[in-house]
Amino acid sequence: MSTNTIKQPSISRLFLQLIEKDSLQHAYLFEGKTGTGKKETALWIAQSLFCQNYSDGPCGECHTCQRIASHQHPDVIELEPEGLSIKIAQVRGLKQEFTKSGMEGRKKLVMVKDVEKMTTQAANSLLKFLEEPDGDIVVILMTTAKHQLLPTILSRVQLIHFPQLSKEQRLLALEEAGLSKERAAVLSQLTSDTEEAIQLSENESLTALIEAVWKWYLTFSKKDDQAFIYVHTDIMPLVKEKSEYHRVMDLFLIVLQDILNTQLSKNYTVGYLKYQAKIQEEAERLSAATLADLMEIILTGKKYLDSNVAAQGVFEKVALEMLTVMKKSL
Ligand SMILES: [Zn+2]
Repeated sequence: MSTNTIKQPSISRLFLQLIEKDSLQHAYLFEGKTGTGKKETALWIAQSLFCQNYSDGPCGECHTCQRIASHQHPDVIELEPEGLSIKIAQVRGLKQEFTKSGMEGRKKLVMVKDVEKMTTQAANSLLKFLEEPDGDIVVILMTTAKHQLLPTILSRVQLIHFPQLSKEQRLLALEEAGLSKERAAVLSQLTSDTEEAIQLSENESLTALIEAVWKWYLTFSKKDDQAFIYVHTDIMPLVKEKSEYHRVMDLFLIVLQDILNTQLSKNYTVGYLKYQAKIQEEAERLSAATLADLMEIILTGKKYLDSNVAAQGVFEKVALEMLTVMKKSL
């Protein structure tokens, strides 16, 4: 089965039932954060409606399923913002397309992405469309910002909330997108947004930074004063802007959380999967109090970054304080 059934199994199950009972409504609103599988689920519903070998779900392999997956099926229409908004011309174009190719009884599915970006005119035009649905049309509206929608739209659609994915689901989704297990593990800790994680996986300087932060941790682990110099030699060359400075701290937090959570649960899936053996060693060696002290230093460091203290200064301060804590530990 395709990705979305893993991402949102309960929603997929619900729609399977509706389709099998032939009781789909005319309009749904898929609402939830980026990366929760709204678009994939909509495409999967389209496949379920049109699949030639349908059997308890779409086959995903027939010609029809493939055309839908590659956005080339004539009865599956996708609308998204052109520039900053969805304009009335787009909705009109959609209507024209329907009357033009409107063969009797031919089912159609319309998806509208980022529906909060519709101009008022476009929204009104679409609403009329929802009021007098010609023939067999299902509309799926999608949004990450439900509060920005007109009440008139909200009152005409059935709301389906897409919850945030669990860590396991996000890991699976990332692996399905082609990321290695190790990469998926660390990136899914860095962001809960699957799409963002996939984008980050293509960022080579981030790859270098993930390794650099781990090595930085190892110098602390050895209580090595090099940890201070390391800021200048190995961390600073990899980061240029505020979001990246924060990323250094976030990656370090992942290391510390990995160790602490491994202490608490043997089954914890660590972010730094590549170094799981060493993390296990550290979990046995360090006290929870030491780890908590280190985390506090990082969090305070993040506050300094927010108040625009120069990053190198913040990292050096963090390094000195962490060395002190490590030297006091066993
Ligand atoms: Zn199929």
